[in-house]
Amino acid sequence: MTAAASARQILTRLHEVMAQRLHAQGKLDSVVDIIGESLASEVCSIYLLREGMLELYATRGLNKSAVHVTRMAIGEGLTGVIADNVEMLNLAEAKAHPDFQYRPETGEDKFHSFAGVPIVYHERAVGVLCVQHVEPRRYEDVEIEALQTTAMVLSELISNAELVDEEEALGLSEALSGPQTVPGLTLVKGLGAGIAAYHQPRVEITQVMADDIEAERARVYRAFDKMREQIDGLANQAEFGVGGEHEEVLQTYKMFAYDEGWSRRINEAIDSGLTAEAAIERVQQHTRMRMRAIDDPLLADRMHDLEDLANRLVRIVSGQLGTAAQQGLRKDTILIARNLGPAELLEYDRRRLKGVILEEGSLTAHVVIVARSMGVPVLGRAKSLRGIVREGDEILLDATAATATVRPSAQVADVFAQRFAKSREKQAAYASLRDVEPFTRCGTRIQVMMNAGLRDDMSSLGLTGADGVGLFRTEFQFLVSATLPQRERQLKLYRDVMDAAGDKPVIFRTVDIGGDKSVPYLSSDISGNDENPAMGWRALRLALTREGLMKVQARSLLEAAAGRQLYVMFPMVSEPWEFDAAKAVFEDQLKFLRKKKKVVPEQVHYGAMLEVPALAEVLDLLLPKLSFLSVGTNDLTQFLFAADRGNPDLAERYDWLSTSIMRFLRRVVQATQGTDVDLGVCGEMGGRRLEALALLGIGFRRLSITPAAVGPIKELVRRIDLDELSEAMTAWLADPSCNLREAIGAWATERDIDVD
Ligand code: PEP
Ligand code: MG
Repeated sequence: MTAAASARQILTRLHEVMAQRLHAQGKLDSVVDIIGESLASEVCSIYLLREGMLELYATRGLNKSAVHVTRMAIGEGLTGVIADNVEMLNLAEAKAHPDFQYRPETGEDKFHSFAGVPIVYHERAVGVLCVQHVEPRRYEDVEIEALQTTAMVLSELISNAELVDEEEALGLSEALSGPQTVPGLTLVKGLGAGIAAYHQPRVEITQVMADDIEAERARVYRAFDKMREQIDGLANQAEFGVGGEHEEVLQTYKMFAYDEGWSRRINEAIDSGLTAEAAIERVQQHTRMRMRAIDDPLLADRMHDLEDLANRLVRIVSGQLGTAAQQGLRKDTILIARNLGPAELLEYDRRRLKGVILEEGSLTAHVVIVARSMGVPVLGRAKSLRGIVREGDEILLDATAATATVRPSAQVADVFAQRFAKSREKQAAYASLRDVEPFTRCGTRIQVMMNAGLRDDMSSLGLTGADGVGLFRTEFQFLVSATLPQRERQLKLYRDVMDAAGDKPVIFRTVDIGGDKSVPYLSSDISGNDENPAMGWRALRLALTREGLMKVQARSLLEAAAGRQLYVMFPMVSEPWEFDAAKAVFEDQLKFLRKKKKVVPEQVHYGAMLEVPALAEVLDLLLPKLSFLSVGTNDLTQFLFAADRGNPDLAERYDWLSTSIMRFLRRVVQATQGTDVDLGVCGEMGGRRLEALALLGIGFRRLSITPAAVGPIKELVRRIDLDELSEAMTAWLADPSCNLREAIGAWATERDIDVD
């Protein structure tokens, strides 16, 4: 008999039992008999979780009097270990296992071999199914698979018969695997608490046994086709970023997606009588088991990719494709994803989203910038989360300390609550600076502006008391839209933003699409062909080629600013002529509007972003054309260090506070001195306290930063003396061996200035 045929026989018998009008206990009793007979094993037992303990619910072969008497704690004995780790055990000699515990009432002393699998419900072990033999032997794969299939059937029975309380099952986590600390990298500081939700949620398998095997087979074929199509099209999606490591992941995905062995095993599992969903899961369980036995970190990484892919396949087959955002967040949530695009993050309900944990991510990736502006803490570079965090687990995220605690103990929760309270106090103190103007101790007024990108962000202007919007990322509207935003929509947004800003200036940056901000309706013909989109056809380069795009935006901005001051800034200017060309598009539109007798802006101020290092060498040519210049340190530093801003492996490698970056920036400051050009920084570094000190120390007087940083930076400004600071910076920069971060940190600490 083939393995599939024998598995099918077991399933058929289980099917019959489940269909009988028997109470749950009767069914469990029948199941142990079926498994015992099929595996010719002397013992087969089922333990189920009740009131936090694993209780013997049914047995064939152990003393019947032990049923509902023998109870094991999670982690205690072999069954407890299986439940605790949610992992099977296969032992030729049970007594040799360090966790073996002998329970005399069961009469199990004569049995040598032992195999057990967890019964999983809502991703948690709610019971254990095990077999024992007198003779010492290891169980074969087909036998373990039969146990796993049976465990899936039992899980379905358990949920239908309500043998495990749903609430209890969800609340079990602490008992099941206890608290775990997940280390990572701080991407957006802050604290948040909520339950875990995966951006791509796992599908609960509700039917294990197939009614029609042919139909299941057809479903899985279609799903494989669709998945392969998706994988082939993934290269352009945010989830996978671009280049480097992502390319490797994608290749692995492709390898698995087209792996004949994988699809064959799933088909065999379907032949044995499982539904497509259950077959995928069963094969996955089996692969997990084999991979764990090998214990190789490289393989573990691949396993993670395969888990992702299997999850994708189950989602396709079951038609449950929605992200957690589309399903809606019902409670305060900590979102978990491998990676996200800015548009994907923006789909989430801001009120419920309390934090994000990414397996990848870097400080200046746009998704992180968006999260920062939403005030959502983000922890990045957290590894292998699928194995640690289950949907619905409680999580305390301390992105400031670069950790998250999953299933926290009461003690950890207390400490967290205290930190939370302290941080709120601090926030309140910063908020009280709202109406206070940021003058340094020596009396210099520093312009503290904020970065924004959406209509919703504008409320922060009043809340923080920022001096205006130093960078309005107009492309955010393009990112959240399924189609190219038309003129009316753009016009309305820009008008609303200016209305919300009142007398305060708003610097609108023209679209910066490309790089990690690709949009589907533009990517195929342009950025899709870029091997290195950050250095490719993006921002002004793209806008100047697609003149229609730029014209529409110019018209919208000029009309929205009718009768007011308009500040326009061009991104990624690499050579002065590009600035001229962009300005000409605006001037043409202005002429057109005047001809049409429309009300035009009172004045248009043109500025450029300094993001491409080459531009710094020709500032003498560019500056006379500008009214302001804003340094985009996110891009500038990626180009200076040749280090992709979105690459997680490089996320910690280079420091903004390096002598090379600071010397470069100081030369830019010097180039603008004596001109009328208003100079500022609008990259992320300006919002960090030590970095802000460095920037002020080399002569910057305008910072545009994320709204949450406005309070802390205002507070910082009020504590410093610029002469003293710039003198220190000059000395440090003269010495290339000086560790700037340490030097500035020590300088601040000496003056009792908080460096966090
Ligand atoms: C920058 O590059 O520093 C910048 C502010 O622009 P963005 O982050 O949107 O590329
Ligand atoms: Mg930029």
